[in-house]
Amino acid sequence: MKLNGTSSNTPSTSQPTTGGQQNGHALDSHRTDSTGLSAWEVDELVDEIGDAHGASSIDTPMRPDAFAIDDDLKIDLIEEHFREIMGILGLDLTDDSLKGSPRRVAKMYVNEIFSGLNPANKPKPTLFDNKFRYNEMLVEKDITVQTYCEHHFVPIIGKAHVAYISSGKVIGLSKLNRVVEYFGKRPQVQERLTVQIAEELKRVLETDDVAVIIDAKHLCVSTRGVHDINSSTVTASYGGKFADEATKQELLRYIAQPSVTI
Ligand SMILES: [Zn+2]
Repeated sequence: MKLNGTSSNTPSTSQPTTGGQQNGHALDSHRTDSTGLSAWEVDELVDEIGDAHGASSIDTPMRPDAFAIDDDLKIDLIEEHFREIMGILGLDLTDDSLKGSPRRVAKMYVNEIFSGLNPANKPKPTLFDNKFRYNEMLVEKDITVQTYCEHHFVPIIGKAHVAYISSGKVIGLSKLNRVVEYFGKRPQVQERLTVQIAEELKRVLETDDVAVIIDAKHLCVSTRGVHDINSSTVTASYGGKFADEATKQELLRYIAQPSVTI
């Protein structure tokens, strides 16, 4: 399989850089053992990194040749490799119930749950003038968050609360949901998801006065590992005026209020 494009500055897959993890070569570089660790120690370290659920960067780590192949080819290649994974697990791919799974998974990855990796799918903001001169905070509560843990590739499900104070422009309400949805359609860690949503809204709304709070359950915590079905994880980004204690408390009061039912 050749993933590299024709671009001359594209690094070769056989030459992992020192930032190997960023280019998707983490396993290659571990196995060739530049670290001096045994394979067992490396496995332990990889588990630990996964369970720590920390992000290494605000930007999703992407290969420079991420879009050198189109979505149709990505689906074909993922189908091929997922069929192999199922086979290695010992599953009989001639079974009627299983034979369509590799393609189903490949299409789901590319067209649905990881479609937010492609900037072409980023929602275009519709901005309006703040004609009402509404200068208080606007809070969009309880936005559904559905994303996938990048360490275990299982879902993270929860709620996001997004708030901003207009600097002269206002955004269509559904666009706030769309921005959350777009960044959720990536392998993620919750901290990075929170910051990516906040930074995008600051950019679009031309203000630092943006806050994002996410409360979510990680299925990698509830269905494996520590098997805790009750715990949830809260992350927050308070920009500009939201860093002021009184403004932050006002936001938290709105979020704590029960939502209206209609
Ligand atoms: Zn995880």
